[in-house]
Amino acid sequence: MTEFRRRYTDKSDSASRTHISRLAFLLAALLIAVTSISLAFVGYVASLASTKQAIANEERLFRNALDERLRDIVREQSSIGISDETVTKLVRGFDPVYARQSFNMLWTNYRHNKVLLISGTKQILAESFQDYTHITKRPASETPALTPVIQRANELYAANRVRVPGGFGHRSVQGLELDQYALMGVIRLDGKPALYSVIPVMPDNYDITLPGGDPTLLMSVKYIDGFLLERLNSQLNFTELRFEPKVIPTNAGPSHLVKSAEGVNIGSFRWNSQTVVDSIWPTVIPVIAMLSVTLAALAFGIAWKIGQLTRSLQKSEEQNRYLALHDNLSGLANRLQFTRVLESSTAALPSKPFAILHCDLDKFKEVNDTFGHAAGDTVIKMMAKRLKEVVGKPGLVSRIGGDEFMIIYRAGRSRKELDTLCRALISKTLVPIPLEGGNTANIGLSIGVAIAPADGTLPEELVARSDAALYRAKDLGRGQHFYYSDLMKDSFLPEHDATTAKNYSPLRA
Ligand code: GH3
Ligand code: MG
Repeated sequence: MTEFRRRYTDKSDSASRTHISRLAFLLAALLIAVTSISLAFVGYVASLASTKQAIANEERLFRNALDERLRDIVREQSSIGISDETVTKLVRGFDPVYARQSFNMLWTNYRHNKVLLISGTKQILAESFQDYTHITKRPASETPALTPVIQRANELYAANRVRVPGGFGHRSVQGLELDQYALMGVIRLDGKPALYSVIPVMPDNYDITLPGGDPTLLMSVKYIDGFLLERLNSQLNFTELRFEPKVIPTNAGPSHLVKSAEGVNIGSFRWNSQTVVDSIWPTVIPVIAMLSVTLAALAFGIAWKIGQLTRSLQKSEEQNRYLALHDNLSGLANRLQFTRVLESSTAALPSKPFAILHCDLDKFKEVNDTFGHAAGDTVIKMMAKRLKEVVGKPGLVSRIGGDEFMIIYRAGRSRKELDTLCRALISKTLVPIPLEGGNTANIGLSIGVAIAPADGTLPEELVARSDAALYRAKDLGRGQHFYYSDLMKDSFLPEHDATTAKNYSPLRA
């Protein structure tokens, strides 16, 4: 019978359901992980984009500030460079005293580190360093960095000069943009990076005209030093604004690269942009956390529900399986289970012989008739319990209908062993059963015994033959057991046996 029990109490389904439940939780966890990672990734990408945008903004602000600083230099030097007096004293003639005074003024008032006066013939007429002015007459080509600057400044002048009676003038500065008469930029001069502005010396009232040819140029230079950086940063408030004589890679933070007039890299302004790094994560992290927690609650809720449904499904399936194979009044195996076990037992013949005991209560109908159907049920339940107790583990006791029970017994098949078993079963059923209302039921038992394979090897054969033996036991006066083999000795084959065997169907109710 252990084979039977193993077959019908298989746990593989329950294991697969536990697996489904675990899988649901695993998927939920995976979903949360994927979502959190995706959100973090989106946050990271957004953060990169916003950092890039913020750096671009800072770089634009810096360009504007630098441009403004250059324009300031133009405005400052214009106070000297755009003047009838300067044209008279430094273009039409050359007054060293006036030159010194003017240059000194640009240093004192505006801190132009270096001022140069360059003639139309590309001679440096005067050159100052801070407040010391050197009157010289040396070719500008001695300082190669000046050549492209002078060239471009001359072109700019040529594009804007006008012919006037007695010489040349310049298109009114009033109507011009600053960079249409002034050349501004960054230069490396005396080995130092510097901002410069060059303007042609021009009259302001047009009482005096300019000679033909290239203009006399006034050039102001401001070295890129701590003082200048401080001025530049006065409105920007960038952290650690500095100048480095190299090109900064684009991913190394904000910077602004400057080039000379001929397009050679001079270096980069740099600063730190900490505010950008901090700006997005304080917003993104709580959102990710909130969404992840919500999703986790939802996903685990669903997974838990799946687990719960799976468990209740498992329970109800177990119940259904139990109901399908058990008699619901006595709790014994039912006809279906009996049939399956009998089929598997006959399939294992001849190596595993067994006996079947066909039992029928004696005069059971009287209990129903006398004490009612409920009392009859009590008796059936009690009998079921007793039969099971006597048979124990080595047998399967089943109720196949009414007051009929079938026992498949494998532990012993000798007459002696079976006699002992049958007597024990009969004497146990004889014990009076107390009923409600102080009544007592006195019931007996008749048993027909068939032994496999001696009496048959097919399920229907064995059932029919145990049935025939049972009938004989009843005929002989009830309360006893009878062997099918003895029936054959008597050469008594009742019509009943043949009919039952022919019509037997294990599933018949
Ligand atoms: P016999 O000694 O010849 O077996 O006589 P009996 O009175 O036991 O009669 P029999 O075995 O032919 O009839 C069994 C009766 O059991 C018939 C039916 O009324 C009754 N019965 C069948 N199923 C149930 C049930 O589930 N509950 C109750 N209380 N009675 C049932
Ligand atoms: Mg009966």
